[in-house]
Amino acid sequence: MPAANYSDLSILSTKEKVGRCRICGESGPLSLEHVIPRSAGGGEKMQLYNTSDLITNPEKAYGEIKQNGTATRTICSKCNNKLGRWYDKEFSKFYKALNIGVDDEIKKLIDSGEIQTKNELSGKWLKFGIKEVRPFCIAKRILAMFCSIDYPGLTDKIPEIQKAILDKNYVPSISDFSIFLCLCYGNGAFFSTIATLKLPNIVDTFAGIESLYIGLYLKQKSSNPKNVDTLDNCANITNWLTECEPNKQYEINFTLPFVKTMALDPPIPQKTKKRICIKNA
Ligand SMILES: [Zn+2]
Repeated sequence: MPAANYSDLSILSTKEKVGRCRICGESGPLSLEHVIPRSAGGGEKMQLYNTSDLITNPEKAYGEIKQNGTATRTICSKCNNKLGRWYDKEFSKFYKALNIGVDDEIKKLIDSGEIQTKNELSGKWLKFGIKEVRPFCIAKRILAMFCSIDYPGLTDKIPEIQKAILDKNYVPSISDFSIFLCLCYGNGAFFSTIATLKLPNIVDTFAGIESLYIGLYLKQKSSNPKNVDTLDNCANITNWLTECEPNKQYEINFTLPFVKTMALDPPIPQKTKKRICIKNA
């Protein structure tokens, strides 16, 4: 069973509720949806911990079993249906292929004796390719994930995120936000409305979703006034929204380092050049 930690456990509550949809902004009944689509493994039972408990007293951290995995109620059924129809399949294909591929590569590293345990993955680089995926749709599903787990009002602050999700062919302006991807390992998963890293004289904030080997982060431009890049080891995939055609399949190739969870540890220093490229399938 995967473990996840989250700064506010109530976000993954599945109790019936009425409220404002975090994507379209309309008020009404909120439907049951999975932050990570069920078809991508987001329905698997997990143990959820409060982030501050894990930091202050990990031995006695309060954990809560979530039978429905990443299920929550933050969006309306109309928006939920759109995610299901337009983006879930593409995202799940990518997410599963990436996790399975990374797992295979880790087994190879262990079998060859290059590493003994997963704890030695930090700083290891992985080359990987996934064929026949639609990066434009994948990026839109990632934006929807952040609508659910980031603070309410994200789409009010950045309307381009709302437009991008609600119009499947819309190419948004990406001047106000960035999406990052990395390979991460740690004790399961991490969800947070805001992860804060304190560097000398600066606090950098972003939202993060880490699960299995994939870390996804959403950063607003305004949250980083001095332009210090704490997500330096991650690949910026925001341009999937502007450079990939909506209905075209591509092959994605990348070279990325493993990093420990962004939630509790600072990123590792960058050694070689990270690379992520896409080409027509
Ligand atoms: Zn809605």
